[in-house]
Amino acid sequence: MACQREDELQELVDEARKIAYEGKVANYIPALQKQNPEVLSCAITYPNGKCVSAGDINQSFSLQSISKIITLAIVLMDYGVDHVFHKVGMEPTGDPFNSIVKLETSSQAKPLNPMINAGALAVTSMIKGKNAEEKVEYILKFVRKLCNDPDITYCNDVAISEFTTSFLNRSLCYYMKGGGVIHGNVEEIMEVYTKHCAISMNSLHLANVGAVFAMNGVNPVTGERVMPKEVARICKTFMVTCGMYNASGEFAIKIGIPAKSGVSGGIMCSVPGRFGIGIFGPPLNDIGNSHTGMKLLELLQEKYDLSMF
Ligand code: GLN
Repeated sequence: MACQREDELQELVDEARKIAYEGKVANYIPALQKQNPEVLSCAITYPNGKCVSAGDINQSFSLQSISKIITLAIVLMDYGVDHVFHKVGMEPTGDPFNSIVKLETSSQAKPLNPMINAGALAVTSMIKGKNAEEKVEYILKFVRKLCNDPDITYCNDVAISEFTTSFLNRSLCYYMKGGGVIHGNVEEIMEVYTKHCAISMNSLHLANVGAVFAMNGVNPVTGERVMPKEVARICKTFMVTCGMYNASGEFAIKIGIPAKSGVSGGIMCSVPGRFGIGIFGPPLNDIGNSHTGMKLLELLQEKYDLSMF
C-alpha cells in the first residue's frame, strides 16, 4: 500500500518543493510562463475511490501531453487496434517529443508512437466529429467521465497561446499529410490538438484518471466501466515505454510505474491494480518532465516501494 496519510504525503511534497528553482517553467507556449514554480500538489486515488492528497491541490493546470493518453484511448475504442497502429507505430524513440527527424527516416512519414507530438497529431486527426467544435466536445465528454466532473473544459488562453505559436506542430502535420498518414484540414487538427492539450484540471481529477487506467478501465468512484480492459492495458504499456519522453527508460528503472507527463508540469501515474497518482509541479528538467514531480516520485518510491518490477 502506498501512502494513506495526508500528513506523511505533505512532508514529501514540502521536501520536493525545495528544489523548485533548479527547474524551469516551460516558455515555448507563452501562456505557460505564468505558472508559479513553487506550486506542487499530489493526489493518490485507490481502487475503493478513497483519495489522499497534499500540497496546492486546488491549482488547475493544462494536461498538455497527458491528453495524448486520453485521445489514444478514444481512437482505440472507436477504430480498434489494427486501424490505429496502421497509422502510428508502437516503438519508443530516443528523440525529444517534438522531433521531426524520424518522420523522414521511418516508412512513409508514419510516427513512431502516439506519445510523441507527431503520433499524437495523427491520433487527433482520427477523432470523430463534423468540425473542430464537435471533436473537442467529444473528447471533453470522455474526460468528464474519467474525472467525475461535468464542468471540466479547456483553458482558452492556453489553447490560443499554443495555436498561434505552434509552427513546429504544423510542420509535423504537413509532413505527415505529404506522406499520406493524415488527411483533413491541418488548421482544424491543430485547433482540436491545442484545445485537448489545454484541458484543465487539478491533481485530484488527474489521480482519478490515473486510477481508471490502473483499474483496467473501471472508474473507482462510480464503478462504471469507461473503457475496455484491452484499451487500458495498451495505454499503460505506452506509459511505461514512452510516457516520460526520452527519459522513459531512466524513469522505468528509478520509479518503475506507468506514467505520462506534460510540459505544464503534470504527471499522471497508473499503478496496475493499486492506485492512480496525479502530480502538478510546473518547473521542468532538461527533458521536459516536472522537476519537483520527479523528486516527489523518487521520495514516494523510496518510502512506499512503488515499482512494479
Ligand atoms: N501541447 C504541447 C506541444 O505540442 C504538448 C507537449 C508536451 O506536453 N510535451 O508542444
